[in-house]
Amino acid sequence: FESLSVGELAKKLGREPSEIIKKLFMLGVMATINQELEQDAIELICADYGVEVEEEVRIDVTDLETYFEDTQEESKPEDIKERPPVVTIMGHVDHGKTTLLDSIRNTKVTAGEAGGITQHIGAYQVVVNDKKITFLDTPGHAAFTTMRARGAKVTDLTILVVAADDGVMPQTVEAINHAKAAEVPIIVAVNKMDKLSANPDRVMQELTEHGLVPEAWGGETIFVPISALKGDGIDSLLEMVLLVSEVGELKADAKRKAIGTVIEAQLDKGRGSVATLLVQNGTLQIGDPIVVGHAFGRVRAMVNDIGRRVKSAGPSTPVEITGLSEVPQAGDRFVVFEDEKTARQVGEARAMTAIQAQRSEKQRVTLDNLFEQM
Ligand code: GDP
Ligand code: MG
Repeated sequence: FESLSVGELAKKLGREPSEIIKKLFMLGVMATINQELEQDAIELICADYGVEVEEEVRIDVTDLETYFEDTQEESKPEDIKERPPVVTIMGHVDHGKTTLLDSIRNTKVTAGEAGGITQHIGAYQVVVNDKKITFLDTPGHAAFTTMRARGAKVTDLTILVVAADDGVMPQTVEAINHAKAAEVPIIVAVNKMDKLSANPDRVMQELTEHGLVPEAWGGETIFVPISALKGDGIDSLLEMVLLVSEVGELKADAKRKAIGTVIEAQLDKGRGSVATLLVQNGTLQIGDPIVVGHAFGRVRAMVNDIGRRVKSAGPSTPVEITGLSEVPQAGDRFVVFEDEKTARQVGEARAMTAIQAQRSEKQRVTLDNLFEQM
C-alpha cells in the first residue's frame, strides 16, 4: 500500500478534504491536506465510511521461476518424457553457420511442409529418424551473450563450425569458452571440406590445443567433416546430434503449464508486441495467461516455425506469440499462470521491482561518481 496524503484519500473516497481532516481530528490526529497518512489512519477513515481497504497483494516475484514452481504440482513420473534437443550453431564469421542452418532446414523440413516456410521466427525444428531437433537461429552471438549474461540457459548442444581452410579463429575460441562456461556439449563440424585447400588435420590439431580432442585421437569430442554448401555430411552431423542428446537424457512434462525463454521480440506495427518463445517445459496454449519478463497478457495467437497458426506448443518448441502488454527482451523467462489476474499482478509487481532496481542502480552510480570526484 503506497502512502496517501489527506487530499488523495479524500479524492479516492469522493469527499471534501476538510471533512477528512475533521474526522482525523476526532480520532486525535492533527493533519493538513498534504500530510501523508499512516496505514492505520487510512484504514480507520475508510472503515468510518464503510469502505473496505483492499489487501495489497505482496508477492515476491523477483525470481519468476521459483514463484512459478511453487504454484505447480510435481510432475507425475509417467508424464516425464524425452524432449527434442535445442541446438545452436556457433563459430567464426564466414565459417559457414548460416549456410549450415539453411542447408539443414532445406533438406530436413518434413514433406508437405516444404515450401511452407514463409516466415522467419529465429528458430526451427527438423525431423531426423522420427526425432525432432530444434535449431536456434539467433543472429550473431550478441543475442546469446545477452541471454547468457541474464542467466538463461536455452541450449542443450552446440555445433561448432570451423572452416577447414581457415582453422581456429578468435570467434571459434570465444564460442568454445561460451559453451564450456554454460556446460553445453560441443560437436565440431569441420566445414568447407569440398575446398581443395581444406585441411581437417590442422583443425583437429588446433582444437586439441583448446581441449577439444577428437575421438580418433583418444579424446571425447565428435568431429564431423561436412560441406554445408554441397550438403555433404549433414546427415551424419544430425545423427551425432541425436546421439549426444540421448546421453544428456533431456526430459520434460508436456502436461504442465509452460515455462521457457524469449528468443527474440519486437514491436510490430499491426500486431503489437511479437515474441518468439522457446517452450522449455510444459505446453503453451492459446489463451494462456502469461508473464514474460515484465510483460504480461494472454497468448492471443501462436505461429510455428513454418508460419502456421497453432493452438499449442510443447517442450523444446519455438513459437511466435502476440498478446503481451510490452515487448520483452531476449533471454527473459516466461511462465504461464492459472488465471489472468495472477499474471497481471505478477507482471506488474515485476515491472515495479525492475523500476526500483533501476532507480537504486542510478543512485548507486551517482554515489560512485561522487566518490570518484572526491
Ligand atoms: P557465417 O558467417 O558463419 O554465417 O558464414 P556463411 O554461411 O555466411 O558462409 C560464408 C561464406 O562461405 C559464403 O560465401 C558461403 O557460401 C561459404 N561457404 C559456407 N559453407 C561452405 C562450404 O561448405 N563450402 C564452400 N566452398 N563454401 C562454403
Ligand atoms: Mg551468418
